[in-house]
Amino acid sequence: MELVRTLRLKLLVSPEQKQALDMTLKANRNALNFTSKVAFQNGGLSAFKKLQQLVYKQLREDFGLKSQMACNVCSAVASTYASAKSNQRMKLASFSHSKLVYSYNRDYTVQANEQTVSIGTLDKRIKVPFLVGENYLPYLLSQDWLFGSAELVPTRKGYSLHVTVKRAIDEPNLTECDAIIGVDRGMNFLAVATNQDDKAMFFKGRSIKDKKARFVRQRKDLQRKGTRSAKRKLKKLAGRENRFMTDINHQVANEVIKFAKESGNQPCIVLEDLTSINLNTTVRSGNRYWRFSWAFAQLETIIRYKAVTEGIPVLSVSPKFTSQKCPKCGHTERTNRDKKNHRFECRKCHYKLNDDLVGARNIRDRGREIRHENEIASA
Ligand SMILES: [Zn+2]
Repeated sequence: MELVRTLRLKLLVSPEQKQALDMTLKANRNALNFTSKVAFQNGGLSAFKKLQQLVYKQLREDFGLKSQMACNVCSAVASTYASAKSNQRMKLASFSHSKLVYSYNRDYTVQANEQTVSIGTLDKRIKVPFLVGENYLPYLLSQDWLFGSAELVPTRKGYSLHVTVKRAIDEPNLTECDAIIGVDRGMNFLAVATNQDDKAMFFKGRSIKDKKARFVRQRKDLQRKGTRSAKRKLKKLAGRENRFMTDINHQVANEVIKFAKESGNQPCIVLEDLTSINLNTTVRSGNRYWRFSWAFAQLETIIRYKAVTEGIPVLSVSPKFTSQKCPKCGHTERTNRDKKNHRFECRKCHYKLNDDLVGARNIRDRGREIRHENEIASA
């Protein structure tokens, strides 16, 4: 199994270096659009080799691209038309986003100790100092992580380089797990976790709820105004809110991992499968539920991210009826749960419990079933 991380390096470019990168990016964009036109005129050509034969010389001579850049342009255009073909949406693809992909060693390298990168431009390679978050520096310095491709991304003031690093790790073995932790996410508590001994951990969301309510109020005010400056402020507010939730989610994830490690030597975490929510979609303002969903999905991503580096397997189980099923007798009925008063009482056996904890237990028990099936399969 392979772990992949993307590290954002902030490049400290001099004015000359910025100009060189601007020109490189522009040439690359023009080359992409030129190549796209040629591919389109040839029936949406998606074969890399054929496309390269048609345009390579011109990309080198007329657009001034280095050999590797020219290859990257061809492969980007070829794959764009390949997916257009499979989606049956053939039209001329235009490349307006100014991004540039570098391959490690061929057109960029990282000198982690001195915190510089060497990256290709149209006429030569340039050496640029960078800043990186201190959490990310170990990835750059470690021998265990290998460099993959990098993407040059223009920012408001200059450039960032998004570097991917990879590392192979052993697949965690489910049958060796001695602790199993179910995690439920909710509005009242951000997360509730329970382990094999029914020990529980609550991560309160109440103070967050207040702060989120404040965000909602501010947003509504700005939306009502509708002026251009209000729109600008709205964008800033969304950014602040997302950073706030991201920070909280990191805290929750850390607590969950800690709780898991305290529960056993080889713990396993079970989550509801909420993967249908797409993290990459931009946040639609004004939709409160959606914002919560976004935060839930992000929490899952962060938990997985942290768990995998700790060698803790994470299982996904179906979220169906996890809040309605009695953890004791299995009786499933909507009225088992009193949502308003945050109480759960089974209509059949009258077992009572905090309603958020019910979800966590059911999720844990579903994970247990999966582990059991695994044991049978490997026996
Ligand atoms: Zn019951």
